[in-house]
Amino acid sequence: MDGIDFEEIPKEFYSDLNQEVFKRCTFCGTDLSLGLDTYLIEKSFKINPSNGMKNTVFEYAICSPCNLKKLEAMSEESIENIKKYISEHFNFLEFQLRNDNKDPFSKCVVTGIPVEDLEEYNIVGQFVGDKMIKGQFPVLMSPSIGDEIQELLSQKTKDEFDDFMNEITGVPPELKELFKIKRPVLI
Ligand SMILES: [Zn+2]
Repeated sequence: MDGIDFEEIPKEFYSDLNQEVFKRCTFCGTDLSLGLDTYLIEKSFKINPSNGMKNTVFEYAICSPCNLKKLEAMSEESIENIKKYISEHFNFLEFQLRNDNKDPFSKCVVTGIPVEDLEEYNIVGQFVGDKMIKGQFPVLMSPSIGDEIQELLSQKTKDEFDDFMNEITGVPPELKELFKIKRPVLI
């Protein structure tokens, strides 16, 4: 495990449901605490302009087998479009600077916009068991990135995403509906 940094899971990634770490994959219900697979957590926040408090729009954990299943369902065209988007828009200097930055949540990793200037943002982290893996993640992203990526997806991929969402049973119906309108950045 040379070169891999592990850290305690920051409170930002705790589930709103019980203020604890995610114990199960939102999609297949697999026990994440066993540490058999890595998993990602995405949380989306909206800031209340009147008091500056943040509210969670959605949150989920996805285990790597579920994520892989989702990626396999994507069409080649969509994957090519996303790769192109990332190479054209992502500020890789931000990525590098971020590694020296104590607070990865201080600004959008893609645009560099400070978090104070964002009304909404998503955070994504990678984990195994009860530890966070530091490296490519964690990141903070403006939700507009997710919208732009969604526009690059082919209809085939969108249909497959909807099939994927319809097939899974563990996700509450409200969350499923929300995902249809406001698709997560990652999946
Ligand atoms: Zn899963």
